[in-house]
Amino acid sequence: MLEIRVLKILFVSPKDRKPHSLLQLSFCIIPNPFLNRLMNKRKILVTSALPYANGSIHLGHLVEYIQTDIWVRFQKMQEHEVHYVCADDAHGTPIMLRAEQESITPRQLIDRVWHEHKADFDGFHIGFDHYYTTDSPENQAFCEDIYRQLRARDLIAKRSVEQFYDPVKQMFLPDRYIKGECPRCHAGDQYGDSCEVCGATYSPTDLISPYSAVSGAKPERRTSNHYFFKLSDVRCETFLKNWIFESIPAQPGVALETRPRLQPEAANKMNEWLSAGLVDWDISRDAPYFGFPIPHTGGKKFFYVWLDAPVGYFGSFKNYFKQNQRTQAEIDEFLRPGGNTEMVHFIGKDILYFHALFWPAMLEFSGYRTPTQIYAHGFLTVNGQKMSKSRGTFITAESYLKQCLNPEWLRYYYAAKLNDSMEDIDLNFEDFVARVNSDLVGKYVNIASRCAGFIIKKFGGELTHNISEASRKWFNQFLFCELGEGDTFLGRHMSIANFYERREFSKAIKEIMSAADVANQYVDRMKPWVLAKDSRNDRELHEVCSVALNMFRMLTVYLKPVLPKLAMEAEQFLGLDPLTWKDANSQHRLLPEGHRINDYEHLMTRIDPKQIEMLTNANKESLAPAESQQAAQAVETMEKNSSATPAPAKAGEAGQASASTISIEDFGKIDLRVAKILDAEHVPGADKLLKLTLDIASEQRTVFAGIKSAYDPEQLKGRLTIMVANLAPRKMKFGVSEGMVLAAGDGDGPYLLSPDEGARPGMKVK
Ligand SMILES: [Zn+2]
Repeated sequence: MLEIRVLKILFVSPKDRKPHSLLQLSFCIIPNPFLNRLMNKRKILVTSALPYANGSIHLGHLVEYIQTDIWVRFQKMQEHEVHYVCADDAHGTPIMLRAEQESITPRQLIDRVWHEHKADFDGFHIGFDHYYTTDSPENQAFCEDIYRQLRARDLIAKRSVEQFYDPVKQMFLPDRYIKGECPRCHAGDQYGDSCEVCGATYSPTDLISPYSAVSGAKPERRTSNHYFFKLSDVRCETFLKNWIFESIPAQPGVALETRPRLQPEAANKMNEWLSAGLVDWDISRDAPYFGFPIPHTGGKKFFYVWLDAPVGYFGSFKNYFKQNQRTQAEIDEFLRPGGNTEMVHFIGKDILYFHALFWPAMLEFSGYRTPTQIYAHGFLTVNGQKMSKSRGTFITAESYLKQCLNPEWLRYYYAAKLNDSMEDIDLNFEDFVARVNSDLVGKYVNIASRCAGFIIKKFGGELTHNISEASRKWFNQFLFCELGEGDTFLGRHMSIANFYERREFSKAIKEIMSAADVANQYVDRMKPWVLAKDSRNDRELHEVCSVALNMFRMLTVYLKPVLPKLAMEAEQFLGLDPLTWKDANSQHRLLPEGHRINDYEHLMTRIDPKQIEMLTNANKESLAPAESQQAAQAVETMEKNSSATPAPAKAGEAGQASASTISIEDFGKIDLRVAKILDAEHVPGADKLLKLTLDIASEQRTVFAGIKSAYDPEQLKGRLTIMVANLAPRKMKFGVSEGMVLAAGDGDGPYLLSPDEGARPGMKVK
């Protein structure tokens, strides 16, 4: 809520121009079937994994949404029929408990988070056709139908399961909600599935003196009946063995080349799981639970959140089609077998198990269509490391936007890094700044900014179509890439389209930038700014600027899936209707004689490295955090395979880094006091913390402050500072912290705040 910050004025660095890299011709081969596919309209239902409604969207999540969005925009530019749907994943124990903690209903919580998520996605131009929630009547109907169909085929079993039960809270506890002493290293306060101190993994029953993280009570072991999807049934096994390794058959009107259903690495993973033997999947949870009740269980059993999450793709799609007055037959064409449609899921590699085993098997035996393709991607690292709150690299989408960083910078950078594999990708901030500045501003935008002014001022904004042989040669070099030794040339637009289609975005970007290099070499060679000095050169000046702007137009087509907003502004500047891929395909690539452009306004600014510094500072946590309450709410969706989790579930407290404005009443809630540091000491085993004993007149407080890097405890004794006196006590690894001292800090801080002379301990700060 409260955001107290030391401010300085940002300044804009002078424009620097880097020499353009030498022209590199790329070699490319286009398979013939691809040409055919371009002629046919495809019908594709595309999904991204559903974000959990218990935390904010961060830059790690955005890899997937940006990847999917680029692919979808590319398909739409090809004029295929594409429907991109997603939803908030809204059920489960973490949602229920967090709502309770905030004294609101789960529906109020998921409604609030839905709006936050939607705003983040809009901010990054993620163009969902429909963004819904899994807590919907459509989803419930699908879940119940799938369950009934599976039961009718004898694929549901009922079995008794022994679990930890919280007698105070009267609920069964998921592993993550049981804590206790690590059986290996004896560290206290460890989760029921793994130890964060020594890294051991175990089952909750191994914990020494376990207790419920919800109520603190000693859990009991109780049995309960659960429902299982019989994945180990021979029918499921036989089906999956075929399905996973099947290629997608060539189909007229859809695709004329066969494609593998899964990436080779994903298929290998599946093979491993299949050889290890499939086990039945527990799809039920006991009440109290926030989710859909299982039919005929008297409201005592609920579908596990992981059952209704992927079904949520269908729920969202159906709601969207209904809203658009589409018929049941049209809905069935996408959701039932036999329709001439594709269903493509983009997911993170950590949820492959759910999407490539449970999900297709469930669909196959309940009368629904199975996924056409599943595209898994890797995780995001920042500066080569896992995203980290202490380094300020655990960055939320909201905070990126609030720091006024252009979302298209990130879209471009991710595109330049993404490929079709499951490898992790790295966001290196130095490289991010250099690449965006040199490629987007230095190469792409630069073409327009160097040529538009002459066309406007000297030629009334009109382009010429009459160009010399020399310029035509340059234009051809721009449009075609060489096909090896021979004299065959192939359109760059084909090569780029092929890379987009296969999710080889980094290769597409390389090809586009190699075209941009040709355009810049052309302008550098022709020197319009020199030609403009003598009116006898007007015809040539007109030609050069017109050709360069035509090149800029082609680059805009190529970059449009990645940079939708910039492309729209470029279209306005060029006086064009929305560009489609056909505009790159067309034989008439030069705009007609007399085509009029509009005044040029600057399209994109450079990134100032200071903006990155501001961003990481805004996301840095000042106190070395003990595992906070919210961290215990680690996404339940990761429960089954937490080893692959890229980063801990986002804890609510990171929002403090980027709060919006607050009222004076909000400020008044904070009890700021002058405090005298009576004692300061090192904390054995803590890298960042000092233990402070503070005097605020009425009482003494112990506070753990993350200021060890900047202060010697001896220096601090006797000094006055400011503390937050009404902060809820926080249980940290080393003891309870009863407040917080205020300090300014970034890379070289922290600097403790001091009151002016005359202030006494206990005085209120207002
Ligand atoms: Zn341990």
